[in-house]
Amino acid sequence: MSVAESFGSNVFNLAVMKERLPKDTFKSLKKTIKDGTALDPNVAEVVANAMKDWAIEKGATHYTHWFQPMTGITAEKHDSFISPTDDGRVIMEFSGKELIMGEPDASSFPSGGLRATFEARGYTAWDPTSFAFVKDNSLYIPTAFCSYSGEVLDKKIPLLRSMEAVSKQALRVLKFFGTDATRVVSYVGPEQEYFLVDAELYKQRKDLVLTGRTLFGAKPAKGQELEDHYFGAIKERVSAFMKELDEELWKLGVLAKTKHNEVAPAQHEIAPIFSTANIACDHNQLTMEVLKKVANRHGLVCLLHEKPFEGVNGSGKHNNWSIGTNTGVNLLKPGDNPISNKKFLLFLSAVIKAVDMYGDLLRVSVATAGNDHRLGANEAPPAIVSMFLGDQLTSVLQALKNGETTMDEVIAVLETGVESLPVINRDSTDRNRTSPFAFTGNKFEFRMAGSSQSIAGINIVINTIVAETLSMFADRLESAKDVDAEVMAIVMDTIKENSRVIFNGNNYSDEWVLEAERRGLPNLKTTADALPAFVSEKNIKLFEKHGVFTETETRSRYEILLEGYSKTLQIEALTMLEMAKTEILPACIAYSSEVIESVAMKKSMGLSVPKQEAMAEEISSLTESLICEIDALKAALDAVPEKGALETAVYFKDAVIPAMESLRATADSLETMVSKDYWPFPTYEDLLFNV
Ligand code: ADP
Ligand code: MG
Repeated sequence: MSVAESFGSNVFNLAVMKERLPKDTFKSLKKTIKDGTALDPNVAEVVANAMKDWAIEKGATHYTHWFQPMTGITAEKHDSFISPTDDGRVIMEFSGKELIMGEPDASSFPSGGLRATFEARGYTAWDPTSFAFVKDNSLYIPTAFCSYSGEVLDKKIPLLRSMEAVSKQALRVLKFFGTDATRVVSYVGPEQEYFLVDAELYKQRKDLVLTGRTLFGAKPAKGQELEDHYFGAIKERVSAFMKELDEELWKLGVLAKTKHNEVAPAQHEIAPIFSTANIACDHNQLTMEVLKKVANRHGLVCLLHEKPFEGVNGSGKHNNWSIGTNTGVNLLKPGDNPISNKKFLLFLSAVIKAVDMYGDLLRVSVATAGNDHRLGANEAPPAIVSMFLGDQLTSVLQALKNGETTMDEVIAVLETGVESLPVINRDSTDRNRTSPFAFTGNKFEFRMAGSSQSIAGINIVINTIVAETLSMFADRLESAKDVDAEVMAIVMDTIKENSRVIFNGNNYSDEWVLEAERRGLPNLKTTADALPAFVSEKNIKLFEKHGVFTETETRSRYEILLEGYSKTLQIEALTMLEMAKTEILPACIAYSSEVIESVAMKKSMGLSVPKQEAMAEEISSLTESLICEIDALKAALDAVPEKGALETAVYFKDAVIPAMESLRATADSLETMVSKDYWPFPTYEDLLFNV
C-alpha cells in the first residue's frame, strides 16, 4: 500500500463518513465537526451503526471511549460489540447511546477533591470534532470526561472551552477589520523529543523502570561535547524504528512529518504538521503511546521523561501555536509590511500583553517535577517567561515607539556567494533557541513544555490569556469613536506597558537573570514555587470570566498538580533508597573487601603499597558516607509533614531533594572507583551508546 493509501486507513474520517453515511446525516455531522455547532441527536444512531460496521471490517471486536483524565495520559475501557440472541448466539451491536455517552467507574482518577469515591459516577461524552479510529482491535471514540454534577474531570473539555473563548474574543476584534470569518481556530504543532535505550539494559535499572529516569549514574567519558549527534546520520536500528513509527502514525491519521537526531546521544525528535489544538492534543497523546509500543517491537524502550540522564540534555516539547480564521487567514502573519498591517499589530500586541500579564500561568502550565530538571539548566529556557520577536518586529515596534508609521520594506535575500545555489529569501526572524516564547515567522513557539506532558494544559493557558487581552482590546474598540486611532493607541499602550517581557538576547546567560529581576519578571524556579500562582485571585477570575474553569475546578487542579509533584518525588526517593541499600551498598562492600584483603596480603609479605592502601581507605570511607546518606534520606522521608498539599510539596523541595542529591553524589563517586564487574547495573555509557 502506498503512503497516500494507507494514511488515515484506520480513521473514521470525513472521506469514510461521506462514503458510508446517508447524505443528510453526513451533512449534519460535518457541520458539527467544521463549525462546532451542536450535534443533532438523531444522527448518533446512524453514525454508530456505520462506525461499527466499518470498525468490524478493520478487525475490531470492541469499542472504547477514549479520554484524557488529569493524570496527563489517556484512559480506555473496552466493551465488546457482542449482544446475545435467543438461540444462544451473538450479533454485533453498537447503539447511538453507547456512542454518545459512557459511564466508566471514575473513582480512581485524580479529581483534586471534586468527587469523593462514594460518589464515583463519571461520564464520558463523544467529541465528534476528533475522529474515531481503530487500534489494537478496538474502535476508539475520543470523548470528554466529567462528573455526575457536571464538574470537569479531564483535560479535553477545558481545552475545547479555551478554544471557544479565544474564538469569541478574536471575532469581536476582527469585526472592526471587516471579515467573513465565523470562527477563529487555534492551531498547534508540537515537536516531541525522546530518548531510545536498549530494552535489556533498561530492565536492569530499577530507576528507569519505576521512575522513567536514572537516579544514579556517573558522567561518562563522552557525553554530548562533540555535538556530533544533532542532525547526525540516523543509525540503522533507529531508522527501522522511525520508519515503522511513521507508518503506524500515518494509519491513525497523525500527520507525522519530521524526524531527526537530537543534541544528546540516543535522543531524537518527531514533529507532525500542525492541526487544530484539540486534534493536536489527541494526536500527541497517540504519538507518545505509539512511540513506546513501536520501540518495544525493536527491542528498545522509549523514554519520554524530561531528564532521563544527568549531564546531557533533557527532552522538551516545543508547542508551536497560532490562531487563524475558518476562512484560512493566519492572524499572526506579518505580511510584507508589518508596520502598516494594523490587524497583525493588534493580534501581536494581544500575545505580547498576554505573555507579560500572565507569565506566571505559562510557568504553571509547564511545572512538573520532571521539568524542574530542565528549566534553567542551560539547555532549556530558564524558568523566567519572556518573548523573542526577532530583529524585524523589534525594529517595527521601535519605529512605532518613535512615532514613525512607515518603514522601508526589506525582503532580505541570503547571499551564499555561490552562483549555482538558488537565491534564498531570508526569514523575518533568525532562530533563537534559548527563548521560552519565540515568534517564528507566523506563529509562536512555546519551548518550556516538558516532553512527557499533555499539551492540553499549555494550550488551555495560551488560548485563555490571549482571549483575555483580546477581550480588553475589543472593549476599547467597541467604545471608541475613531477605531483606526484606537487600534494604534492600543498597540502603543502595549509597547509602553508590556515590552519588558520582550528579550531578544541569550536567555541562558546569568546577565539575563539579573536583568529580568530588574524588569520585575517573576523567576519561579521550581514547581513548588510556581504552582501557587495558579490560584491567585487574578488567575481564578481569568478562568472564570472565560468559562474555562470554575473556581472549584481551578483549585482542584492545583491540588492535583501539587500532589503529583510530591508523589513523584516520593517514588523517586524510595527507589533511590532501595537501589542504594540493596544494590549499590553490597557492591561497594564486596569490592572494598577485595581491595582491603589484597592490601593486607601484600603488606603481610612486606610489600609497601601506600597508594593501594589509600584507595582502600577512600572506598571504605565513601561507603560509610553512603550509609549515612541513606539514613539521612530515610529520615527526611519519615518526617514528611501531613499538613496541606503545598506544605508537603515545599518540604519535598527543601528537605527531600537535597538528601537525594547528596546520596547520588556519593554513589556516583563510588561508581568511578568500583570495578565494573561489581557495579550492579548498566552505566551511562552502556545506556547512551548502545542503540
Ligand atoms: P522548526 O524549524 O522549529 O522545526 P517548523 O516550521 O518545521 O519549525 O515547524 C515546527 C512545527 O510548527 C511543526 O509541527 C509545524 O507544523 C508547526 N507549524 C507551522 N506553522 C504553524 C502555524 N501556523 N501554527 C501552528 N503550528 C505551526
Ligand atoms: Mg522548533
